[in-house]
Amino acid sequence: MKIFKFGGASLQNYAHIQQVLNILQHTSHRPLVVVVSAMGKTTNALEKVINYAYQQQTDLALQQLQDIFQRHLELVHELFPDGHDPLIKQLQNDLATVEPFLYEKDKSFDWLYDQIVGLGEILSSHIVSACLHRANLSHAWMDARQLIYTDQHYREAEVDWPQTEKAILQNAKRFLDQQGCVLTQGFIGRAPDGSTTTLGREGSDFTAAIWGNVLNAESVTIWKDVPGLQNADPKQIANTQTIPEISYREVIEMAYYGAQVIHPRTIQPLQQKKIPLWVKCFLNPELPGTCVYEHAADDHLPPILVWKKDQVWVEFTTRDFSFITEHRLSKLYQSFHHLHIKINLMQNGAISFYCCIDHRPEKLNALIHELQEDFDIHYREGMELLTIRRPNNGWPEQLIGDYITWAEQRSPQTLHLVLQHVAQTALPVVPVHEVHSQWGKK
Ligand code: ASP
Ligand code: MG
Repeated sequence: MKIFKFGGASLQNYAHIQQVLNILQHTSHRPLVVVVSAMGKTTNALEKVINYAYQQQTDLALQQLQDIFQRHLELVHELFPDGHDPLIKQLQNDLATVEPFLYEKDKSFDWLYDQIVGLGEILSSHIVSACLHRANLSHAWMDARQLIYTDQHYREAEVDWPQTEKAILQNAKRFLDQQGCVLTQGFIGRAPDGSTTTLGREGSDFTAAIWGNVLNAESVTIWKDVPGLQNADPKQIANTQTIPEISYREVIEMAYYGAQVIHPRTIQPLQQKKIPLWVKCFLNPELPGTCVYEHAADDHLPPILVWKKDQVWVEFTTRDFSFITEHRLSKLYQSFHHLHIKINLMQNGAISFYCCIDHRPEKLNALIHELQEDFDIHYREGMELLTIRRPNNGWPEQLIGDYITWAEQRSPQTLHLVLQHVAQTALPVVPVHEVHSQWGKK
């Protein structure tokens, strides 16, 4: 049993899809589970639809949704120059199931998001399935919304493992055992009430790991457009190196600090069952790629850089000048916990607590509302968090030449820097009373 996951980049155009089909045709490996995510940047485009719908700008939402659909149809025409009516009907049906959500009122943003955003995966999986049929690759298209059971926590759902295991074993296992191939969607799942949930952005990697865990796969392979895991994001930093092998532990650290390479939750289900994870290049499957496994020797790794942009640095100061004691910290933590805000870095002084979090205005606003009675709160936008693993192995410090360092934390293996580009320093610190005028209207 192997699991292959193909991400958006590998499905973004005709040539890349041909390459994916090529890989699938050349692997004689069965049983095989193929997990696909949405094509190209479809998910980002769907996020725009959702924003319009939430603001009840339904016409704009519809227009944007039509554009997305049109792009899929264009691809279908390229893939099937003689036409493929049943596929087009299927895609139209998929679209029709989403449209009514554009008219929903009084629902939470996160609920709405999940009901709409998964359309990308449904469309792409139907298109890939049609291509596989044409190539006589026998497989079953399976709906992840019937297999990946989760809780009701929209946009970052937790997997209900017993239910998921039951569903996969009952519905997919028999087919796979008969030397089959299952094609399914990443990213999406099912809440107890049957509504759609998602596992967080880039969650398809995690879906692949869930399948791997449940089916005790021999390996999970994530096919990407890079030669393997890199020691930094090549879109941000030049001259990155491919890492041939690396331990689960190290990848968890990278993902936790915000490396976009692999969804942070992917490793745990694999580590539990010691299933190796391969990161391979779909453009050149001959390249060795990266193998992530338990006992990989990490000593020779180059420094690994994880650069998280769009951060906000928030400062909480006790209103009555009392110290930041355990009970104050516990109050702060409770709010972060229940608002599901992840602290990327924190620090505290006598009467102040500072933290670096992803800039999600709606979350920050909620946080401020909850804590402003006890704390005087200020925040600074336009911040960045740079994490360097093994900084002692020599990292290119000139990278931060144009930055001001706001906070620095160092341990033998890791260096964290909270940075602000000099061009951003003109941005004011925003005191809390301005928050309401800025976002209160929403
Ligand atoms: N399509 C989703 C996203 O772009 C999930 C994924 O690609 O893994 O976040
Ligand atoms: Mg993706």
